[in-house]
Amino acid sequence: MDNNLQQVVAGFKAYLKQEKKKGRQAVPKSASQETTPKSSTRAAATGRAEAVGQLCQQFADCQNCLLGRTRKKLVFGEGDPDARLMFIGEGPGFDEDQTGRPFIGKAGQLLTKAIETTINLRREEVYIGNIVKCHPMKNPDTPEMRGNDRPPSTEEMAACLPIITRQIEIINPEIICLLGRTATQAILKSNEGLHQLRNQFHTLNFGGKDLQFIATVHPASCLYDPSNKKYIWEDFKKIRDFLKKTS
Ligand code: SF4
Repeated sequence: MDNNLQQVVAGFKAYLKQEKKKGRQAVPKSASQETTPKSSTRAAATGRAEAVGQLCQQFADCQNCLLGRTRKKLVFGEGDPDARLMFIGEGPGFDEDQTGRPFIGKAGQLLTKAIETTINLRREEVYIGNIVKCHPMKNPDTPEMRGNDRPPSTEEMAACLPIITRQIEIINPEIICLLGRTATQAILKSNEGLHQLRNQFHTLNFGGKDLQFIATVHPASCLYDPSNKKYIWEDFKKIRDFLKKTS
């Protein structure tokens, strides 16, 4: 087991231990679940955490596409396995490859701030992942170079899609926010531009259940054009209102 996986598995074990110790009740996922007995809700949350941990172990050494050969760390995803809200980006960048954690560079910090200030949730209360789990690089011979990122190819996304699909099925969030054009077009299976697809809800069936999706610009785009922040703010307010209605 590599260090990255050990960290992720240790994180899940700590989460499970904490849940048992605190006897914490998970946030109800919908109004209809409010009548669920507390013990059943806790059991469901624990079951999700275990299932996500098992999935992570299953793909720890994945070589299903070429990105597996050049990654430093596999970036599986992190957050609350019982989250009501999930974020999906296209793939890890330099900082994420170094640490094995999603969205922790400058773009990730912007995302975290927007989650906290606009949706009024802590980063730990949502789940954050990517379509591909390994860093797509323009030049894989220079993995230590910053600015070497590229969007994942269609083939790489197709190879990795079963993992994020299973993550969605297990976590079963009430709403999923797609970050950026690549993730949006891949998940919604659309060729339309991001600005045609964002700021509205899309319903897709995952694991036999209809789930709500909303798309917004990638936080990284706000680093080179700060005026893009207004789109994130607009779309996140829609998410905040959606979560208020369903809680
Ligand atoms: S990107 Fe996904 S499919 Fe490709 S090697 Fe990494 S985990 Fe496997």
